Amino acid sequence: MVPKKFFIQTFGCQMNVYDSERIAQLLTSRNFQQVDDPARADLILVNTCSVREKPEKKVYSALGRFRALKRKKPGLQIGVGGCVAQQEGERLLERVPYLDFVLGTKELRRITEFLDPQETCDHRPCATALGGRVDPYQGLPLFPRAGRITAFVSIMQGCDNFCSFCIVPFVRGREVSRASGDILEEIRSLSATGVKEVTLLGQNVNSYGNRGPGEMSFPDLLEAVQQVPGVERIRFTTSHPKDLSPRLIQSFGRLSKLCEHIHLPLQSGSDRVLERMKRGYSREEVGEKVLRLRQACPEISITTDMIVGFPGEEERDFQESLEMIARIQFDDLFSFRYSDRPHTRASSLADKIPEGVKQERLAALQSLQRKITEGKNRAWEGRIVEVLTEGPSKVRGEEKTGRTRTNRIVNFPGPSISPGSLVRVRVEKALAHSLRGELVTE
Ligand code: SAM
Ligand code: SF4
Repeated sequence: MVPKKFFIQTFGCQMNVYDSERIAQLLTSRNFQQVDDPARADLILVNTCSVREKPEKKVYSALGRFRALKRKKPGLQIGVGGCVAQQEGERLLERVPYLDFVLGTKELRRITEFLDPQETCDHRPCATALGGRVDPYQGLPLFPRAGRITAFVSIMQGCDNFCSFCIVPFVRGREVSRASGDILEEIRSLSATGVKEVTLLGQNVNSYGNRGPGEMSFPDLLEAVQQVPGVERIRFTTSHPKDLSPRLIQSFGRLSKLCEHIHLPLQSGSDRVLERMKRGYSREEVGEKVLRLRQACPEISITTDMIVGFPGEEERDFQESLEMIARIQFDDLFSFRYSDRPHTRASSLADKIPEGVKQERLAALQSLQRKITEGKNRAWEGRIVEVLTEGPSKVRGEEKTGRTRTNRIVNFPGPSISPGSLVRVRVEKALAHSLRGELVTE
């Protein structure tokens, strides 16, 4: 039988990239074939993000583009998965009349029944049950693609923190940790196909194991992953500052495979705003933890997320955010204009900030960080770094690209270097978003 072809378009965070990968593995195990051209597909899945307003809007324009394909190929099935699917449910089917199905964040496995009309009698199914603390990946087939060097592995799903701006607890459900045995089995199967670097994913990896009786803690899980043969590097994201424990801090520098990088989202440098965000820490506490991280591991690269224009953010609050950025000297940061999200507490706060003010604050914050990042990158000039080669460089195809342990992109000439090789590179030049270097052969 000729295999049916599927195409997945993924929006949003690493968690969505991971979900798309698990859906692809499931479909491949059922004799579907993945294609990278939607025009060749019998099934298109749009995996969506609703964490901010902007990515949510992108979903509708993507669907509009696929509609034209469906006109040419009436048998084409189009589905929406991920956080917008979870948030909108049946409303999506009403709003997008050519949509065939909606697949919520905890119902990934049901995609196969939607594709087989004998298994479902529902004309346009919508599966959006969140189902308590249930691991949505349990029992899904492990069918990793060959040829990858790096991979994401979800270690937990959902979140119990309910930060006042955030939709995640509503679209990903209550926090649940996956069984460590399942995680390790998955990492072993990725390693067997040539994966050298794994990034462990969770909304708050620090609380891994807290919700599963008898399960190991996150630092213990890191130690177990360190033992998996073939894995050369371990990363994780995201680490909530309030739960960053002394033991996790000590794992840096102690576990040889754990890369010297932590993403520690600060969100705001003002205690007043942090309180209203319900983040559970003060600026001083984060400053203190950063100090301890740098004591344990002086090389560590620290990145963060910042939100500007949270309701009620005054100019002095914003200045405190700038002060914290200048004081901590993050290696890099992701910055966002606050947007209202359904169900969240912040969306019902009265004192909203005008878009123009948010835009100005965002520009000021990014300009400050640009200078800091440039300085941080320049400090690497002349130094020799370990690079995990990922493949040809995007800019100059004849060159190779990879990342340092501190998560900086490095491009270098290396015609005979194959993907997956760990090489030593001398950094010659720091650019705004990457480093250029020469291979060190002696
Ligand atoms: N779990 C992570 C943490 O606690 O830091 C955050 C995950 S969230 C999916 C990714 C980032 O999106 C957040 O760190 C925050 O900066 C940003 N974000 C979330 N909700 C937002 C909103 N309503 N408006 C603007 N940015 C938002
Ligand atoms: Fe959202 Fe806060 Fe949970 Fe992060 S910790 S996912 S920001 S609720």
